[in-house]
Amino acid sequence: MTAPLDVLVVGAGPTGLALATQLRAYETRFRIIDRSPDRARESRAPAIQPRTLEQLAGFGVSDDLVDRGSTAVRLHLHLPRRVLQVPLFDVGCDDTPYPYLLFLPQSETEDVLTSRLAARDVAVERGTELVSAERTGAYVTCRLRHRDGGQETLRARYVVGCDGAHSTVRAQAGIAFEGYAYPQTFLLADLEVDGLEPGTAHTFMTASGLLFFFPLGTPATWRMIALHPPGSRSGDVTPELLQRIADDWTTDRLTLRDPIWTTSFRLHNRGATHYRKGPFFLAGDAAHIHSPAGGQGMNTGIQDALNLGWKLAHVCRGASPEELLETYEAERAPVGHRVRRLTDRAFTVGTSSHPALRLARTHLAPRFAPLLLRTTAPRARLFRTVAELAIHYRRGPLSTTGPRTPGRGPRAGDRLPDVPRGLQQRTADPGHHLLLTGPWPEVPPPHDLVAVHHLGARSPWQGTGHALVRPDGYVGYTAGGTDLTGLRAYLDRWLPRP
Ligand SMILES: Cc1cc2nc3c(=O)[nH]c(=O)nc-3n(C[C@H](O)[C@H](O)[C@H](O)COP(=O)(O)OP(=O)(O)OC[C@H]3O[C@@H](n4cnc5c(N)ncnc54)[C@H](O)[C@@H]3O)c2cc1C
Repeated sequence: MTAPLDVLVVGAGPTGLALATQLRAYETRFRIIDRSPDRARESRAPAIQPRTLEQLAGFGVSDDLVDRGSTAVRLHLHLPRRVLQVPLFDVGCDDTPYPYLLFLPQSETEDVLTSRLAARDVAVERGTELVSAERTGAYVTCRLRHRDGGQETLRARYVVGCDGAHSTVRAQAGIAFEGYAYPQTFLLADLEVDGLEPGTAHTFMTASGLLFFFPLGTPATWRMIALHPPGSRSGDVTPELLQRIADDWTTDRLTLRDPIWTTSFRLHNRGATHYRKGPFFLAGDAAHIHSPAGGQGMNTGIQDALNLGWKLAHVCRGASPEELLETYEAERAPVGHRVRRLTDRAFTVGTSSHPALRLARTHLAPRFAPLLLRTTAPRARLFRTVAELAIHYRRGPLSTTGPRTPGRGPRAGDRLPDVPRGLQQRTADPGHHLLLTGPWPEVPPPHDLVAVHHLGARSPWQGTGHALVRPDGYVGYTAGGTDLTGLRAYLDRWLPRP
């Protein structure tokens, strides 16, 4: 048997690929396998949120993603008697370099991540399936089956299940996946549509439910999602059915043609009861699945991965204690839980046939939506939530507030905003970053894994102080003044080996 690995990443969807990208940046010894012989070609998740782009920027992939995608800045909300033009992310998102929803097929996102890994000499081992994984002493013994039928046994210190909703790792670790299925069936089509304003997302709100068209760009111009109408056989997604839905549910004259991918599916809302059990970790769809309302699923998975990767890397290289790995579930399980709740509410309002909710869609929304859109604060809150810019770990075990912390500015556990512009880029290199604000003498790095940046007065905080930014772009420690005693104690705890 070969020498044990540090990490086996199971699954090369967006979650596994993001994890591998981060592990590679820290030179962790890992392998990434996927049972499917080829990369998925279907578009699947079409939307990338600002926070995902921020977090991937340090690995040099966000510019590629933006170059390939389309940045929708508007939503047309088609109500029964009027069309509201809703600018997307125009308020509440001025502290990010990516103030837009990026539409890009998931297949393209995976291609960008796979190419980035290949450029760094990491090959995704396709056609390789994890069959079983069993804890034996200090390692997990994993049995793999290759596409030619050959078997392989390997040992790994940690196994991360990025293997989707039907996760083998989750089953092998004995972690439950609790929740429910929604009764409705949906249909999806990537196709061409004549009669829709291009470069804009469209939502048609009707008594029967919601109909969406998103500007996909490639491999087709539009992604359509709708409830399967009553009376049609779920599973049958014919061009005639798609046209009938458009005719019945919209007052615009739309011509639907050239569908290149159609499918119908039922949705679930489920979550793993634990994100970690001993040497096993779960991330992405293996840990949580929910409705696509708000385009959160893939984004949450990628951000799970980027919360976990640096922690595994630091523990494996002996720079951090095992205890650091406990913080993964403590930080990410509440995020997964909130996403499931939020998407469940949006889904229920959008699809319910309950008379009150039908009335809300057809009568109340047309009257009150314009008023709501004129109020800046609730809109900003909504956009920040959807953009995943509002995620924080303030109550997490890795967030520590030192003495004399300034009243204004990010708190321990908050994401580092891009204020002033360029700050995120300055701190994007993998690793921890110590930010010194206000006047400071020259400060030697307090640790060989920490880069020091003098921000002077151009900082998100007021006055003199310091903050430690984690590798995933969240503030771990903040304090006022120039006394670094509290910071050193924080580093002694989480990065004890200089
Ligand atoms: C039709 C559809 C539409 C969607 N629309 C949206 C949307 O609008 N917005 C959004 O955010 N999300 C959407 N999603 C969800 C999104 O696609 C998922 O959240 C995302 O793919 C999750 O990524 P993942 O890497 O966690 O898992 P997956 O993409 O499922 O990847 C898991 C990988 O693990 C591999 N694997 C499984 N078992 C094993 C094993 N035993 N050994 C080795 N490999 C294994 C699989 O082959 C697969 O490649 C949609 C999904 C579907 C199906």
